[in-house]
Amino acid sequence: MDKIKMLNPVVEMDGDEMTRVIWKMIKDELLNPFVDLKTEYYDLGLENRERTDDAVTLEAAEALRRVGVGVKCATITPNAKRMEEYHLSRMYKSPNGTIRSAVDGTTFRAPIMLPGTKPLVPTWEAPITIARHSNADLYKDVELRVEEPGDAVLSAGGQAKTVYSFTGPGVALAMYNTDRSIESFARSCFSCALDKKQDLWFSCKDTISTVYDGRFRDIFQAVYDAEYKAAFEAAGIRYLYTLIDDAVARCMRSKGGFVWALKNYDGDVMSDMIGAAFGALALMTSVLISPSGCFEYEAAHGTVTRHWYRRQKGERTSTNPMATLFAWTGALRKRGELDGIAELTAFADRLEKASLDAIGDGVVTGDMAALTGVPAGVDTETFIAAVRERLERSM
Ligand code: NAP
Ligand code: MG
Repeated sequence: MDKIKMLNPVVEMDGDEMTRVIWKMIKDELLNPFVDLKTEYYDLGLENRERTDDAVTLEAAEALRRVGVGVKCATITPNAKRMEEYHLSRMYKSPNGTIRSAVDGTTFRAPIMLPGTKPLVPTWEAPITIARHSNADLYKDVELRVEEPGDAVLSAGGQAKTVYSFTGPGVALAMYNTDRSIESFARSCFSCALDKKQDLWFSCKDTISTVYDGRFRDIFQAVYDAEYKAAFEAAGIRYLYTLIDDAVARCMRSKGGFVWALKNYDGDVMSDMIGAAFGALALMTSVLISPSGCFEYEAAHGTVTRHWYRRQKGERTSTNPMATLFAWTGALRKRGELDGIAELTAFADRLEKASLDAIGDGVVTGDMAALTGVPAGVDTETFIAAVRERLERSM
């Protein structure tokens, strides 16, 4: 059988620990035998970030901007403990944060739905994708513990407003956002909805927060009208703005299958709710989309350190490779679409189906056993072999 040829590369960003092991297994067993893989490889493993003083992360981000499609393995974000463990010369920032700022992108998270499982909300038939604005808001707020009576004042550019005239102790906070960041966020959200051919919802509380949340609502509407309305109508999808409490109620009665854009704090809360309702962390996929149309696919989970330590002691582990596998299929499908290579797009579909078929046949990793009602899970190698068997049968 001839291997499927690629025209243009995907940016391949390798990572750390257990997910680095899974990365290699996926390439060796499920990709290289079938596809003449064309990648631009960047090793974002912590040792190489240390060796290059983190320049490799910036190079990978630059490549992503140039190439347009990337796939990333989970990476360690160093903390004090990791500084010691990996003998680091400084505490490098999260590669995801660095790449996200470099391409000015938004992260979209969606669950993989397993055959034979139901989300906790019985009406949900298709995954719900959460888009969380990752700039400022409550995460860059300024807070004040007020001890003495006096005015809390908000001022900027010659304007000033009294927040509250304290007569006793209390608390105050201020937060901000920028038109530029909200516009980028809106564009990434509209691009994601078009890419998935699903409706986009945006919700906030503009009846109460008339200026701050009102600005979000107005920018979304203006970007939609000027740049996306025609494409949405052609694709048969719609943009819906609604109050966040209404959106929550509608979401619970919906069939799923839409993209839900949220401000930073709202997105933090709702992504955990959606994740829990659909199953497990190991089944959450993530894609970073830039307003200019770059796509970077990855698993939402981390490097699964506890399994890695067990593996280093020679144990086999039952680590779930699904989200990492779907990162690869996402990137290959996108590459196939952009380059007009139908075989590559079909291969991504077949590989996903092979993995879901294995699960449907009761071959699952430990974490999926509980979800699917299978008595026991197999190790990662056995699961991947089962996927390969089904993939080969389908080719
Ligand atoms: P984690 O790697 O997501 O793992 C937390 C726990 O969730 C695991 O111990 C495991 O539970 C379960 N789990 C996660 N993924 C799984 C999988 N594929 N299969 C089976 N079980 C899975 O989070 P963490 O332990 O908090 O973080 C580890 C490292 O990852 C940190 O250094 C952090 O900086 C990094 N991180 C990276 C990213 C990223 O690159 N996108 C995201 C988050 C964290 P059991 O042990 O109970 O089986
Ligand atoms: Mg959270």
